[in-house]
Amino acid sequence: MGQLRSMKRYSAIAIAREAFRRNSGWERAWRSPDPGRAYDVVIVGAGGHGLATAYYLGRNHGIRNVAIVEKGWLGGGNTGRNTTIIRSNYLQDASAAIYEKARALYETLSQDLNYNVMFSPRGVAMLAQTHHEVRGYQRTAQANAIQGVETEFIGPERVKELCPIINIDGPRYPVLGALWQPRGGTARHDAVAWGYARAASAMGMDIIENCEVTAINQSRGAVTGVETSRGPIDCRKLGIVVAGHSGILSGMAGFRLPIESVALQALVSEPVKPCMDIVVMANTVHGYMSQSDKGEMVIGGGADGFNNYSQRGSFHHVEETVRALVETFPIISRLKMLRQWAGIVDMTGDRSPIISKTPLDNCYINCGWGTGGFKAIPGSGWAMAELIAKGEPGRLAAPFSLDRFREGRFIDESVAAGVAH
Ligand SMILES: Cc1cc2nc3c(=O)[nH]c(=O)nc-3n(C[C@H](O)[C@H](O)[C@H](O)COP(=O)(O)OP(=O)(O)OC[C@H]3O[C@@H](n4cnc5c(N)ncnc54)[C@H](O)[C@@H]3O)c2cc1C
Repeated sequence: MGQLRSMKRYSAIAIAREAFRRNSGWERAWRSPDPGRAYDVVIVGAGGHGLATAYYLGRNHGIRNVAIVEKGWLGGGNTGRNTTIIRSNYLQDASAAIYEKARALYETLSQDLNYNVMFSPRGVAMLAQTHHEVRGYQRTAQANAIQGVETEFIGPERVKELCPIINIDGPRYPVLGALWQPRGGTARHDAVAWGYARAASAMGMDIIENCEVTAINQSRGAVTGVETSRGPIDCRKLGIVVAGHSGILSGMAGFRLPIESVALQALVSEPVKPCMDIVVMANTVHGYMSQSDKGEMVIGGGADGFNNYSQRGSFHHVEETVRALVETFPIISRLKMLRQWAGIVDMTGDRSPIISKTPLDNCYINCGWGTGGFKAIPGSGWAMAELIAKGEPGRLAAPFSLDRFREGRFIDESVAAGVAH
């Protein structure tokens, strides 16, 4: 375990102090140690979910002899590639509970981590553009009212008021209303990973980048450690939190997962003056959009229709997504698109995640967040830390066990999560 050290707090006073010192006193946000020989807990994957798991292991359960092992760079997976939509307007009780826990934690995450994650609860509107969607979202609004999640179904005039650049009279798909979550929004994706990393490192945890797990060592049905590109590491407990690579890691551990890995794409336009201060998702035409602080229109597209591990975009998705959105947002027909990219997302059949024990005694897995796990990072880390610390799932994680696929207890969120975000 790395040395426990006191972290210098970021504050207005610190900024003033450093201004007089030519900014010479800032320290590295997290240490970069060599791997130790053994830890109480090893977490594979330094994305948002892995880092949040480590942070809550320390904060909520006092377990700090922890290593987070990352094959690339911290936050370089889906966490640094997503379109940052945060919402909790899911249909099923189990989903609403964990996504709302996450959304609530986002409200104070900057203060908790002493790191500005730029949470912006600007509001999220999921457009209803068919009568079927109107009925579906009215039902979700009812469910959310019972679950204690603040949403409402709003009419087209209110949608236009909230987002003047929307064309509500589209020729194919007019806007008939929307499911509106006023405290949904966005956060800065890198900052979420960096904030958790800094806080975990300050608790003495080792974040080991450029260190790929290549094998999982076992004895008598339990994990004893991992082989990595930087040598073996022993552990008492192992957490696998690698999103699109979950099938590969479970293969190393000797069990199979009901997961498919596919590339999911996004793109951004050239920056323009502020013109949209909410997030809008148009699930019928399949596209969604928000405006970044830099002014770029951040546009989410679809997932590839075939399994793959390529983190590149493909042109036909850009064309399809922009073509679909132009009808609802005519102004984007004049914008140049600047960049496109992809991440490898881990899709389950019921479009709900897995936070679970595994066939190996002391090995736990967190995956299956598919196209929508950024919003869940704090809640998922909270629930996964509890599972690892206690060896049994708590209230939030229990419904998301692997057993549900054998027992037919699906948590069907294909309506809430079927579109990418
Ligand atoms: C284009 C796109 C848009 C999205 N938009 C949204 C959105 O708007 N809102 C939302 O809520 N979600 C969104 N998502 C989904 C979201 O990004 C993911 O669900 C979430 O980031 C998953 O986080 P993670 O920490 O589990 O995975 P990751 O961030 O992918 O982290 C997993 C890490 O494991 C590492 N790893 C893999 N194999 C190994 C190994 N053998 N050894 C060591 N390390 C390993 C990887 O390098 C990676 O860094 C989007 C995803 C994409 C791709």
